[in-house]
Amino acid sequence: MSSRQEQLALNLSEQRERLAAACAAAGRSASEVTIIAVTKTYPVADVLALAALGVTDIGENRDQEAAAKAAATADAGVEVRWHFVGQLQRNKCRSVVTYADMVHSVDSVPLARALAGAADRHRERPLDVLVQVSIDGDAARGGAIEGAADPEREVRAVVDEIAGSPALRLRGVMAVAPVRWEPAEAFAKLGEVAEWIRADHPDATVVSAGMSADLEQAVNAGATHVRLGGAILGNRLPPAVA
Ligand SMILES: *Cc1c(COP(=O)(O)O)cnc(C)c1O
Repeated sequence: MSSRQEQLALNLSEQRERLAAACAAAGRSASEVTIIAVTKTYPVADVLALAALGVTDIGENRDQEAAAKAAATADAGVEVRWHFVGQLQRNKCRSVVTYADMVHSVDSVPLARALAGAADRHRERPLDVLVQVSIDGDAARGGAIEGAADPEREVRAVVDEIAGSPALRLRGVMAVAPVRWEPAEAFAKLGEVAEWIRADHPDATVVSAGMSADLEQAVNAGATHVRLGGAILGNRLPPAVA
């Protein structure tokens, strides 16, 4: 193993233990929560190393980078699930639907419509999507908003648009805790949204919440997927030596 692989193995085992402890503290089974390793800005070699360590879910936030890594990973004969977690522009939908297994960041009616159109034309199977929910209602940042001034950003409207699109499957919700909020409060609010959506859409069971800094609070509030970047990949860029 290279020292980079050893470092990733160590970080990963620490985060798996951390997740197990968080699940135990919340009275949940560790098997209920999936770790998504967010590999943005890190090389495809790290994706391959993580896959070899049993990580099957990889997150990325920019299409150009994600598309290249997905292609290189497939070329290496390695299969992982790709999660698109970043803000998505409508003109990137066509590309994203060709490699993504789940898009976490659907936050407007026009985006849902563009994604559905692209998925219909450029995929064989429906695309799993999550509604990204804004916790603080700040329209300048990502996320659909409960009681939005703009009807195209309203959570209910985005949910309905996705649910009405045969090329998309509504699988749940995603959020990023706002900086000024207590993560526990933010994720409790997300849990409420997840619950009313699930009442109408029983397959919408995914709650994508929690990052390196707030995994415990997210797990305690019912997260099914945590998105870990720095905690696994490191907070600095790795040395450029192979
Ligand atoms: C980068 C990123 C993460 C991972 O963040 P860390 O703090 O490095 O764990 C999670 N979610 C999204 C949407 C991201 O862009």
